[in-house]
Amino acid sequence: MLDLPVEKVIIIGSGCAGLTAAIYAARANLSPLVLEGRQPGGQLSTTTLVENFPGFPDGIDGPQLIMNMHAQAEKFGARFSYGEVTEFDPSNKYIRIKVDDDEWLETQALIIASGASARYLNLDNEEKLIGHGLTSCATCDGAFYKNVPVAVVGGGDSAAEESLFLTRFASKVYLIHRRDQLRASKIMADRVLANKKIDPIWNTVVTKYIPDEKGEMRAIMLRNVKTGEERELEVACVFVAIGHDPNTKAYRGKLETDPEGYLISRHLVESKHPGVFIAGDVSDRVYKQAITAAGTGCAAAIEAERYLSDLEN
Ligand code: NAP
Repeated sequence: MLDLPVEKVIIIGSGCAGLTAAIYAARANLSPLVLEGRQPGGQLSTTTLVENFPGFPDGIDGPQLIMNMHAQAEKFGARFSYGEVTEFDPSNKYIRIKVDDDEWLETQALIIASGASARYLNLDNEEKLIGHGLTSCATCDGAFYKNVPVAVVGGGDSAAEESLFLTRFASKVYLIHRRDQLRASKIMADRVLANKKIDPIWNTVVTKYIPDEKGEMRAIMLRNVKTGEERELEVACVFVAIGHDPNTKAYRGKLETDPEGYLISRHLVESKHPGVFIAGDVSDRVYKQAITAAGTGCAAAIEAERYLSDLEN
């Protein structure tokens, strides 16, 4: 089944963690193979201005930052391929991964930097409405909703950032949060609350999506969690920004995970299996920052390099 050459290092994921690991592994002459998954570039590729990545006092566009990292990794010899890891088998001499339920690859060292994916609300019609007035990416879809009211659900930095971005297009941005206080950092929260186009709706959850006859979002049903009062709100699009779930399906039962599915690492980036390292949001339920993902990506590549040299000696 496996007549392909054994790779030295495969890196799963091409977000901030995966690309930083790729830069370090490539500069160590390991010619890593980077597997870009369902969302190449990871979460930064769907964000707007990144103001807190050190080295960019005026901020840098998330997609631009990712493209720079990609070019930097490529320049030193990283190779890129598309595919999602659907199976993981660490029980043989080499670590095996299956890509897109199809092809098995073998590698001496593996860096899992598969990140996390946007969470939705689990309401009726959700799958059908995604792309029809329901999305988790304001950068991708915001410009389609000019001069119409939209809603953002959530109270963290993502919700704040999406709301502010959407004010460029929408006639009104309703920010629907289940509590009466934002979780977002103070600087972001202050900007949101000072923006006249953003109308926060506190202590409120969305209970229903209401599509029109063409299957496009027309309105949502809201419930005030304090009073129980329900009301309908007309919006052309709902942007869900309620956090992320780690992309760890292929590793469950084979590597240690916490109850929410995040991979558990020891000594920052080690898994329980020799040669398998972990970086970025796939194991970070606390910091979730581009810079921490880059940091663990770097550490994982250095550990992978040490592991490979120990194998040779
Ligand atoms: P987050 O900080 O986990 O916030 C998620 C928000 O969604 C919370 O306000 C939470 O409410 C709400 N929520 C969760 N589940 C919900 C549900 N089922 N229904 C309704 N509301 C729900 O996630 P995030 O905003 O994506 O941010 C993740 C991390 O990335 C954070 O560390 C953040 O600082 C970072 N980030 C940074 C930037 C930046 O610095 N530019 C931008 C984006 C993200 P509660 O508050 O009640 O829990």
